[in-house]
Amino acid sequence: MRRVVVKVGSNVLTQAGGKLNVTRVSALVDQIAWMRHHGFEVILVTSGAVACGRRELLIDHELDSVEQRQLYSAVGQVKLVNLYYDLFREYGMHVGQVLTMKENFQTEEQYQNQRACMEVMLQNGVIPVVNENDTVCVTELMFTDNDELSGLIAKMMKAEMLILLSNIDGVFTGDPADPASELIRSVKPGDDVAQYIQAKKSSAGRGGMTSKFNTASSLSKEGVRVIIANGERENILVDLINNPKDTPHTEFIAS
Ligand code: GLU
Repeated sequence: MRRVVVKVGSNVLTQAGGKLNVTRVSALVDQIAWMRHHGFEVILVTSGAVACGRRELLIDHELDSVEQRQLYSAVGQVKLVNLYYDLFREYGMHVGQVLTMKENFQTEEQYQNQRACMEVMLQNGVIPVVNENDTVCVTELMFTDNDELSGLIAKMMKAEMLILLSNIDGVFTGDPADPASELIRSVKPGDDVAQYIQAKKSSAGRGGMTSKFNTASSLSKEGVRVIIANGERENILVDLINNPKDTPHTEFIAS
């Protein structure tokens, strides 16, 4: 089986205004189920807890940023995982929740425990649905974002590929909104594309192209292929596998 980590960003999962995009989540689940039927073992790293919870509660009084993150993620994570649970169930597939934090990657014992947990899930046909434990990770111990987290998971689980789904087709030679900018299809080890990385980021999540680029560069050195693609495109995962040539994306080729 080919092991792949798929990371889905908050912007892919939510509509403008933060409402959970159930149709999109459902389409992604259909595609992950397709992957499972085509010889792939998938680990799903999903953002969206905070965005989901914010929309669910619509609090009308002041909360500081830590309170917001704790409250919204606690509520939103349940909603998010429930949705994955129900949708995968239609395919007779089981999901299991893994909430993690930076500390879990720092000591050998915790690292191995975490790895063993996901390994036993995969061995028993359970799809790990991973997110940061946002309720308790609130300070300097947070991951930069789920791009960093998905990179650590891909490395730990020795995945052959990490697919980062965002709301952009990949790395462009300039501002993606400028029609003169071109999509960079592949980045080989040693290629200097840092100059093209736009610091600008989209609204809902914490990530952005800078962190995707950092994750991709370091992982490709570890022998993991990294693909950045647009999760808002219909059938993106299936197309990346079946017809990569005609599917917009940026691939960081593993060394
Ligand atoms: N863990 C956060 C959430 O689920 C998102 C972090 C990120 O945007 O990368 O809401």
